[in-house]
Amino acid sequence: MLSIFLGFNYKASSLIKEQLHRQGQAFLQEIVLTREWAANHGGVYVLLTPGMEVNPFLSQIPGSKAVVEDRDGNRYTLKNPALMTREISELAAKKGIFQFRITSLKPLNPANEPGQFERSALKAFEKGSGEYSIYDQKGGQVLYRYMTPLITQEACLKCHAHQGYHLGDLRGGISVTIDATEVMQQLHKNKIFLMLSGFGVIFLIFAIIWSISQSFINKIKVAELKLVKMASTDFLTGLLNRRELFNRIAIEVSRAKREAKPISIIIIDIDKFKTLNDTYGHQAGDVVLKELSRCFTERFRGYDIIARYGGEEFLVAAPETTLEQARELAERLRVAVMNMSILYEDGALPIKCTISAGVAWMQDDEDVERTISRADEALYRAKNEGRNRVSVA
Ligand code: GH3
Ligand code: MG
Ligand code: MG
Repeated sequence: MLSIFLGFNYKASSLIKEQLHRQGQAFLQEIVLTREWAANHGGVYVLLTPGMEVNPFLSQIPGSKAVVEDRDGNRYTLKNPALMTREISELAAKKGIFQFRITSLKPLNPANEPGQFERSALKAFEKGSGEYSIYDQKGGQVLYRYMTPLITQEACLKCHAHQGYHLGDLRGGISVTIDATEVMQQLHKNKIFLMLSGFGVIFLIFAIIWSISQSFINKIKVAELKLVKMASTDFLTGLLNRRELFNRIAIEVSRAKREAKPISIIIIDIDKFKTLNDTYGHQAGDVVLKELSRCFTERFRGYDIIARYGGEEFLVAAPETTLEQARELAERLRVAVMNMSILYEDGALPIKCTISAGVAWMQDDEDVERTISRADEALYRAKNEGRNRVSVA
């Protein structure tokens, strides 16, 4: 974007400068032609009217007559090329078009003494330059000043040979001053416009990249959450898996020990699930697993940890729960499951099933594995005692 901006800016500015240069060249060519025409005629006599200036420097040129008179007594004064140039310049300046000036290394008229710009230009012409230009700041105005050398021609010698000039000598220069304030302001506006549109485009590109990357990041975040969930939950039931169960239990156990609060373990196993599978099919078995999981989740409290512990086994870690409270919880659950009718298919017979549970309370001096195995022993006892019951370790 920066290179495009610099490129456009350079192109616009060089086009405008080239235009000013051509304009300067055209003005000077026109004035040089006018001078040449006048010089070829040895100047032009015009009717001398009252108040008209008579060129006082003509007296310095041998053989020239500043004023002539005809037989009728009309008086005429000579407008030589230098005077003609000066007067046209004054006229152009008065009309506000442009200004030009002829300066000489040895001026007859002291008013044609070169200024700082012209002196530098004349020095450059002496070294062989064919033209010279500068931009000048004056009272808030930008001026383009352009100058070309004046070379002594045959017609010039008539008046200037006495100054020691020869054909082809550098005699001075002719300069034009053009008011470039407006074009320079235009160029400045152009630069600001380019800069603003450049920034606009950069901003737009950034906005597009930002929004694309944001949506990409969001998708990655969603995928990451899904992965984390997949890694910690059981695919079929949506309960915690074994790995996550032990992570959470470790946290709860250390909290329970720190705060000296009870923690209970309940292991639940579906009774005769193999038979259920054999009777209704494996898919019906899956529906039963899902429905029981939903039932457990609804009945336990938010801070209880419920996991699918094995094929048709579930483990609940209930913090801040005494052995008796845990037994009651398991009992309520057993009754709820016993009263459930699971419809796995439209028109099919509802499935009834029961659960057995083993409950244990974590003792001060044991680790959680030990509590789990005591809950497992209690479950084993419940099975042996006829199933559909809760046994306490
Ligand atoms: P018990 O009352 O002694 O617990 O008898 P059971 O038949 O429930 O116990 P057993 O351990 O003999 O059988 C468990 C069955 O659970 C065997 C297996 O096919 C089934 N099972 C395990 N995981 C899944 C599962 O994801 N989906 C289904 N449909 N069945 C499963
Ligand atoms: Mg089992
Ligand atoms: Mg079972």
